[in-house]
Amino acid sequence: MTAPDAASATMATLSARQRTAVALRILGEAGYQDKITGHLTVRDRDDATVLVNPVDVLWVDIRAQDLLRVAPDGAILEGTRRFNPTAGFHFAIHARRHDVRVVLHNHPPFGNIWAAASRMPPLLDQSGANGGGSTVMVSEYEGTLEDVGRAERLAIAFGQADVAVLAHHGVLVVGEDLDIAQDDGQRSHDESRKDERAHPRRALLVATGNRRRIAGARLLGLVDRPRRCPARRAALSRRSAWSLLSARHRGRG
Ligand SMILES: [Zn+2]
Repeated sequence: MTAPDAASATMATLSARQRTAVALRILGEAGYQDKITGHLTVRDRDDATVLVNPVDVLWVDIRAQDLLRVAPDGAILEGTRRFNPTAGFHFAIHARRHDVRVVLHNHPPFGNIWAAASRMPPLLDQSGANGGGSTVMVSEYEGTLEDVGRAERLAIAFGQADVAVLAHHGVLVVGEDLDIAQDDGQRSHDESRKDERAHPRRALLVATGNRRRIAGARLLGLVDRPRRCPARRAALSRRSAWSLLSARHRGRG
């Protein structure tokens, strides 16, 4: 019998909060992030509440104590940081998919090239098929997802899939546990990059060759919106401060 791997044994001792923070940091370090946006919800109890990352901390900086516990009506039951109301659509998926404990959504740069083109990344090799599951394209972009009706329509369109490319928006991944969701997120990120690695600039051309624009973007205020986002600035300045401190620690500051 093989002795338990030390790292696996350590992970087994972590709380749901700690494991969620670890998953966010790993995905953030892998480039599966878009500054402060994106959300990972974990239904760690047999009630309707979830653990979720706050909006004012970069994924790579998340600590277990930063996570919030939020109820389906948006009430923050634990935590002092800010909840991103656009994460509300996760509840629509959690309510419909009892097999799903984890919902992961972000706008990872390479996944978003395919989302911008409203196309699925191709399956180019055997390792890309590892993990199985089904991927769907959700081609309707009606606006941001704090709206309950839009959230419901997205959950219906997602159906029983495991991964979705959300046209003009981002990528959605679900899993029965954190390991599966994290692995599928990483895998879809890698697959989205492979075409670009194998054929420099092709993936970018896929997007720039697409002349479609977000329907109604100006109407929704997405185009002319003033450049204000205090939470994003706070998160980025925290990252800068950490970089400065660590550089000084290394004697390079
Ligand atoms: Zn989004």
